[in-house]
Amino acid sequence: MADSFDLVVIGTGPGGYVCAIRAAQLGMKVAVVEKNPTFGGTCLNIGCIPSKALLHASEEFEKAAHHLSELGIDIGAPKLDLARLMAFKDEGVEGNVKGVEFLMKKNKITPFQGVGRILGAGKVEVAGENGTQTIDTKAIVIATGSDVARLPGIDIDEKDIVTSTGALSLEKVPEKLLVIGAGIIGLELGSVWRRLGAQVIVVEFLDRITPGMDAEIAKNFQRILKKQGMEFLLSTKVTKVEKQGQGLKVTTEPAKGGEPKVLDADVVLVAVGRVPYTEGLGLEEAGIRRDNKGRVDVDEHFQTSMPGIYAIGDVIRGPMLAHKGEDEGVAVAEIIAGKAGHVNYDVIPNVIYTSPELASVGKTEEELKEAGVAYKVGKFPFTANGRAKANKTTEGFVKFLADAKTDRVLGCHIIGANAGEMIHEVAVLMEFGGSSEDLARTCHAHPTLSEAVKEAALSVENRAIHM
Ligand code: FAD
Ligand code: NAD
Repeated sequence: MADSFDLVVIGTGPGGYVCAIRAAQLGMKVAVVEKNPTFGGTCLNIGCIPSKALLHASEEFEKAAHHLSELGIDIGAPKLDLARLMAFKDEGVEGNVKGVEFLMKKNKITPFQGVGRILGAGKVEVAGENGTQTIDTKAIVIATGSDVARLPGIDIDEKDIVTSTGALSLEKVPEKLLVIGAGIIGLELGSVWRRLGAQVIVVEFLDRITPGMDAEIAKNFQRILKKQGMEFLLSTKVTKVEKQGQGLKVTTEPAKGGEPKVLDADVVLVAVGRVPYTEGLGLEEAGIRRDNKGRVDVDEHFQTSMPGIYAIGDVIRGPMLAHKGEDEGVAVAEIIAGKAGHVNYDVIPNVIYTSPELASVGKTEEELKEAGVAYKVGKFPFTANGRAKANKTTEGFVKFLADAKTDRVLGCHIIGANAGEMIHEVAVLMEFGGSSEDLARTCHAHPTLSEAVKEAALSVENRAIHM
């Protein structure tokens, strides 16, 4: 007799495991299928969590090396124990992965270990170490996530030529790290290794870094990263990476073509985006349609072209962010349970966890211009914020974009210390359709960095107090 469930979720990343928990809360009999030995997907095992642990540890190292003396704390030059630092990162991953395991048990979710393949509506085959079994289910959610995008002719060995996965576990600090792609991964992991002592060169195909982020913020971000010692080669492409002796020879060319140049590096990090992962799922055989980017095609209720089969997270359209997948996981579980699950794609925060951090929500100035929306801008620099002055974390500013007629907040972009925590008051404001005046009239505790958010909102009507 095959096992029978109300819902089978394939993949236990932030999309899949959250979906499974919400469905169990709603009274469904739920199973998850995971091909990896641990739960948590890319995010917990080789993504958000280990990268943030390394960002945290390397930031502390840099503080100890260069900044504590400014505060009158002299500890001498800190010594790096990379093996211990990696163990710190692994402990963070283990804690999170075990946390998901606990939640699966607590919610009575049945785990199946193996590769899940869809045989058709209501049937999932699991190929595990001990053979193959078939599970019957009323509904299926595909949450198989994404994989790194590769570049033709560049052979990744995860030792010298690495993706983010290899860059999270280098055995020694490279002298020279060449990063291909000035996106989030390139700049976060580039920052980690620069802080630990590597010379970091970032090669970007476009004429700007972090495409998609507000251009003014991105320009400031690049200036700050350059000041920290990161080097940028914009409008440039890498055409070849060759091993030579102990090192690597990297051939670059102007993006539009031209004279090639050869650069040396010890390690090359390929960080040019991610692609949906559907290997072994049997989409074609099951008749499940993809879109023109190879993602599983879904309607506004996350249903694929096959009734009863849904998809969420990195494997479908939208930003490849853990919290976007989580919210979709909740929404689809509610939809399957006959409730009104919904995700507001206009209010999904995006954070880059460098120092300073970048955080944004809503539209960028470029997007508003392109859509022909009349808007007002309010800005406030951290140099004028009391707490930032006291802490000497004055880099960056807050930028508000509000509708010119109604004052409704359309977007907010912050570059500065703790930006990733501060952005959420604006996200809540936007969910309630609030105006810049609503925020400007909300009392903020003093002295906090969040007062800069209030001042930027005041500045939309040119009435910031401390500027
Ligand atoms: P995934 O997390 O990719 O999980 C998919 C799961 O499905 C995997 O466990 C996989 O083994 C399993 N699977 C796939 N196919 C099958 C199959 N056929 N059968 C069984 N199991 C299968 N996002 C953020 O929001 N914040 C961050 O700070 C952040 N940092 C990141 C840092 C790095 C280095 C990387 C690489 C990504 C980062 N991301 C971050 C992105 C984030 O990790 C993804 O958006 C998120 O993990 C997507 O979740 P998901 O559930 O869709 O898929
Ligand atoms: P990305 O899309 O953020 O950046 C890729 C960069 O590579 C872009 O700037 C692009 O123009 C450039 N590029 C593409 N092809 C190139 C080429 N041939 N040569 C040089 N440059 C090239 O992708 P990523 O940094 O790999 O991150 C992947 C995904 O993971 C992102 O979608 C992101 O949302 C997610 N992520 C999020 C976080 C976070 O939320 N803090 C952290 C890490 C990753």
